[in-house]
Amino acid sequence: MGWSIKIKCQECDYEKVFLLGIGFNYLPEYIFNSDGSKLSHFIKDKEERKLISEIMKDTKAQVEASEERLYRCLKCNQLYAKYYYSIKYRHGERKANYICSNCSYPLETIDIRNEKGIILAETNGKTVEIKCPKCGSSKTSCLDGCFDWD
Ligand SMILES: [Zn+2]
Ligand SMILES: [Zn+2]
Repeated sequence: MGWSIKIKCQECDYEKVFLLGIGFNYLPEYIFNSDGSKLSHFIKDKEERKLISEIMKDTKAQVEASEERLYRCLKCNQLYAKYYYSIKYRHGERKANYICSNCSYPLETIDIRNEKGIILAETNGKTVEIKCPKCGSSKTSCLDGCFDWD
């Protein structure tokens, strides 16, 4: 079941809801099925899909993650909810990689967790500030949007 968070800026009128986590359609068996027909809905890049189909032929291939994650651009502070996947296989690991559609800088994922009502944002285990995409202020608050989706 997915969840939503709302990011709100205290210094301007920026406010946006992001849908994160795992919906019903995000089950790896659904997306990475043998004929690859569902992939195009989740992975827009054609070359990437081709590569993944090849990887999935590897009998050792294992999908480690398949979910919507929050991404941020460190250059222009833009925030996105995007499909994240990670597949381990014989020759390594393939992960979703995105660039910012605003400035083409590589995006970084933020781990958002709701722990007893407190929302924690982390990158590689370190707590991070989420800067406002509109005005750049670090005075943003992150609220549990309190609705599930699938
Ligand atoms: Zn950017
Ligand atoms: Zn702002």
